[in-house]
Amino acid sequence: MRVAVIGSGLGGLSAAVTLAARGYQVVVFDKNPWLGGKAAVLEEKGFRFDMGPTILIRPSVLRKVFAEAGRRLEDYLTLVHLDPQWRCFFDDGSVLDLLDDTAAMSAALDRRKPGIGQGFTDFMRLSQELHRISDRFFFWKSVDSMKDTFRIQGAFDAAVLKDVMRMRLGKTVGGTIREFIKDERVAQMLDHYTQYVGSSPDASPAILCAIGHMQSEEGIWYPMGGTRAVPEALVRLGRELGVEYRPSCEVARLTLHGGRVAGLVTEAGESLPFDAVVSNEDAVRTYRELIGGSIARRFDKRRTYEPACSGVVLYLGLNRRYEHLAHHDFVFSRDPHEEFHHIYELGEPAPDPTCYLASTSRTEPATAPAGGDALYVLVHTPYLRPHHDWAKMLPEYRQVILNKLKRTAGMEDLESRIVFERALTPEDIHARYKVLNGAIYGLSSHGRWSGAFKPGNASSEVEGLFLAGGAAHPGPGMPMVLMSGWIAADTLDQKFRGAEAAGRGGLRESA
Ligand SMILES: Cc1cc2nc3c(=O)[nH]c(=O)nc-3n(C[C@H](O)[C@H](O)[C@H](O)COP(=O)(O)OP(=O)(O)OC[C@H]3O[C@@H](n4cnc5c(N)ncnc54)[C@H](O)[C@@H]3O)c2cc1C
Repeated sequence: MRVAVIGSGLGGLSAAVTLAARGYQVVVFDKNPWLGGKAAVLEEKGFRFDMGPTILIRPSVLRKVFAEAGRRLEDYLTLVHLDPQWRCFFDDGSVLDLLDDTAAMSAALDRRKPGIGQGFTDFMRLSQELHRISDRFFFWKSVDSMKDTFRIQGAFDAAVLKDVMRMRLGKTVGGTIREFIKDERVAQMLDHYTQYVGSSPDASPAILCAIGHMQSEEGIWYPMGGTRAVPEALVRLGRELGVEYRPSCEVARLTLHGGRVAGLVTEAGESLPFDAVVSNEDAVRTYRELIGGSIARRFDKRRTYEPACSGVVLYLGLNRRYEHLAHHDFVFSRDPHEEFHHIYELGEPAPDPTCYLASTSRTEPATAPAGGDALYVLVHTPYLRPHHDWAKMLPEYRQVILNKLKRTAGMEDLESRIVFERALTPEDIHARYKVLNGAIYGLSSHGRWSGAFKPGNASSEVEGLFLAGGAAHPGPGMPMVLMSGWIAADTLDQKFRGAEAAGRGGLRESA
């Protein structure tokens, strides 16, 4: 059986490896000349930057994808553990390290303000509970809505009811954090777990507090060679399993026959038959652009698809290293409410933003010439609105970002230390990765009740179409899209085998 994977983001690569390991013939298409989607690399003048994701949590998800093929992740990738997880620079001049160990973190918080350590311990206990519930209801299976989670779970038994009560339905991440944490700066730090999904903590459902435990349980890891080493490892494994890769080949549309996938047509006009397709293109754009017509209209009517936030990245090649930085740093805004109000409600860049920094040369010196640093600076911005023109907006906003780093992170001589510079804007992200309105993290998680739900991995509109990536279940971020690819492949496999066992000759004849 031949399966096409449209897009070689981490979700697409994970689906391709899983399918190939289970015996399917797989061809991966990507419009870009490189494989890996947003996990791209910029290498120039002796500096090497990861262009997109830099924080890798839950390597066990990646390990599971490799285990599908009976391989050990360690034979393909060298991972280095980073603790502290993040160093936090606050606007009041204080600095705080987020540590792996909850007891050590709680003690550090008590040194900051006596009494707040217990609140943190209690919050992390809740986070662990919500993580367990997420494992039970959402992860490793295709889920499209609240109704789905209970259908899959079977009878509505007492244990399910208990878990539902514990999900804090109707409450937000921001509100939940503040119930436990009586220090606005520490609360601001924890708010930033929802920045992993590009959504406002004040509008995201409390279940996303689970991210804290998802991060602390396994810690943060750096792949030697940069995040880029992750797609490289997946592609290497895929090649060993017989996956065919076709970079620089954009898919123009799907061909359907009787409401089922029959193949695809490339931009160059090549028409190719396939038995099934896994689309790693943004889920909404898959329907609108690769399918269109009444099917796309039906998909659009099912719910509102709000893009997650976008971002500006500055790649700064420096002729010095700032020794007071950790590998991952957050330089926080003066006021999280003002910041999130601008990004998520007004749809305008925040006047005083939070900057995330990756200073990779302290873990891998080869990323910069001796004594220098390849400093990566990411600032979240709203998803693209019609009036945004980043060619005009970037120079002024670049200065806002540099001023913030000089003022709040003690990098006073930053501007005179820049010897190489490139930038990525929301418009670049939109064009490079074919996402919705320049969104970095797929669809937003806004909505107190159903914000955690994304389109499921098996299309309910088109037989033989499966979805993987940041805009599909279970959502964005490296571990989630890798899981998304695995779920899409597993669901396809189960449907195919089910249809075969029923004597209907695979997906094509299945009802
Ligand atoms: C600046 C930035 C920072 C980030 N930081 C982090 C982080 O620190 N940690 C983390 O976990 N996550 C982070 N993320 C998010 C993470 O990168 C994404 O969630 C994840 O990589 C997206 O994977 P994906 O499978 O959705 O595919 P994508 O990476 O979006 O790739 C999709 C691919 O499909 C291709 N494609 C689309 N349409 C077609 C078509 N019609 N034909 C052929 N090819 C097509 C595109 O060219 C693209 O290569 C960051 C993202 C960005 C941009």
